[in-house]
Amino acid sequence: MTRIAFVNGAYRRHGEASVHIEDRGYQFGDGVYEVCEIRDGALIDETPHLARLERSLAALRIAAPMSLNALKLVMREIVRRNRVRDGLVYVQVSRGVAPRDHGFPAAARPSLVVSAKPLDRRKGEANAAVGVRVVALPDERWRRPEIKSLQLLPNVLAKQSAREKGAYEAWLVDDQGRITEGSSTNAWIVDAAGKLATRQADRAVLSGVTRATLLALLAKEGVVFEERPFTLEETYAAREAFLTSAGNGVMPVVAVNDRVIGDGRPGALTLALREKFHRFAEMSPV
Ligand code: PMP
Repeated sequence: MTRIAFVNGAYRRHGEASVHIEDRGYQFGDGVYEVCEIRDGALIDETPHLARLERSLAALRIAAPMSLNALKLVMREIVRRNRVRDGLVYVQVSRGVAPRDHGFPAAARPSLVVSAKPLDRRKGEANAAVGVRVVALPDERWRRPEIKSLQLLPNVLAKQSAREKGAYEAWLVDDQGRITEGSSTNAWIVDAAGKLATRQADRAVLSGVTRATLLALLAKEGVVFEERPFTLEETYAAREAFLTSAGNGVMPVVAVNDRVIGDGRPGALTLALREKFHRFAEMSPV
């Protein structure tokens, strides 16, 4: 089947879809993006993903390339044309094409790219059954990681370093020894006292949509949690650990560096939360 991407107003064959060499996304990382899960053909948490896209655009003073309703239609059309049942939709907006100069161009139209790819759900389930290992690395990002910008070099290097160490993800540690988040996921623990904790969504982390949805589900059910920073040492002593993102849902973490978390198996609360998130996703409208 031919993969199709949407590029600046047209649906193109994926292999031939391209942007200009002076696109500012390409030259400066001057743009933002979103990744939204597709499950059984439905876009999960579409509204908060699009709200975050608007916040990222506003933070960088990039105009919206089209109305949100039009963008929703394009996202659906991309899912349909690529016949994705389970996978991810990728939306990218850059400041547009202009002669290379660091300052904003006087007149540039934002560039919009939308694509979709299938994900093998069984792989996620296989990983979740045994849990994944993460490695801790210094958080070397700029000070505005709450903006979902295209500038992902520190995240790219951290993920690569994790993979070279045989790990699934890198958890980033700030100057005070506290974990901020993963290179493309949010980080959670069930601490030694049994309390669920994830870092508050301040400027040090991306406000994950999966994170926010899970917190809302927990609040609704009266499950106690804390939004607070936790250290690497606390993580070693934690009963359970897990990560969240649109592609992972709730993914158990069973080891950090060479330290086993809990009994080295996915935690009971973690697995219950994974189920909870699945049930929420299954109820999402198409
Ligand atoms: N943190 C970072 C740095 C990310 O790139 C992502 C993935 N978008 C997340 C957290 C998880 O966010 P979400 O749940 O919205 O996918």
